[in-house]
Amino acid sequence: MARKIVVTSGKGGVGKTTISANLGANLAKLGKKVVILDVDIGLNNLDVVMGIENKIVFDIVDCIEGRCRVKQAIIQDFCEPNLFIMPSSQSLNGTRVSGSGIKSIVDELSDNFDYVLIDCPAGIDIGFHRAVFSASEALVVTTPHLSAIKDADKVVDILKTYCLSSVGLIINRVRGDLILNKEMMTVESISKFFDIDLVGVVPEDDKISAYLSLGKTINVKSKALSAFNLLAQNIHYGFRKIYDVTYSYNGLFGYIKRSLRKNI
Ligand code: ADP
Ligand code: MG
Repeated sequence: MARKIVVTSGKGGVGKTTISANLGANLAKLGKKVVILDVDIGLNNLDVVMGIENKIVFDIVDCIEGRCRVKQAIIQDFCEPNLFIMPSSQSLNGTRVSGSGIKSIVDELSDNFDYVLIDCPAGIDIGFHRAVFSASEALVVTTPHLSAIKDADKVVDILKTYCLSSVGLIINRVRGDLILNKEMMTVESISKFFDIDLVGVVPEDDKISAYLSLGKTINVKSKALSAFNLLAQNIHYGFRKIYDVTYSYNGLFGYIKRSLRKNI
């Protein structure tokens, strides 16, 4: 039986798809068999981010409507052999998809995988409820910006009406330099807004955009890779060690100072 985890946020553009893809890749690196479902019906994103859009023959709606078997709609990732993706439909007509349709797919996948990650659409309307309905755990993503924090807080309240075994918080796009300059809220002050556990902190990292635009998850040594590694370990082993952006920024700053001194 897989752990069925929905990655949600309320606000769009805060990094749900980025986190689903990179968390999936890092859980796969831990030797776990992972499938990520894009349930943003009509606005497929995950296939583009993971560079598999040209490999799609069937999608989640084909599967729900019986035009193919579940196995036929999952695509293996290029880099991680343990990672699979079930793409969303590109057709705009997602209205005929029901929560129980998605749940039946998730439950079937759950027999053959260790993790089913569900990449949720933005908002708190039907698409959100359809995605959460089939999950047993949730991860709520926010950035350090007030509008995202408020939306995430609303989502946490709605998630309480579901029977989920755990709800964790991920803070994305954190900048150590801005925190040190007191221009960005600290991780501690953001997590105080919420009464759920903080399970991951992901720094702002240009490599994320660069890699995702190539249709790949991050696999070069970088701040983001370390953060996704730690996040996957926190999720899988239940550690509570959080990637420290201010430390990483200080470390980088120290390195630049040392190199400058050498040049002098
Ligand atoms: P969502 O799925 O919540 O709508 P996405 O995952 O599509 O959000 O991310 C929106 C944009 O933000 C993408 O262009 C992505 O590359 C960028 N992004 C997400 N997280 C980071 C990060 N930590 N550092 C830099 N860019 C990021
Ligand atoms: Mg998305």
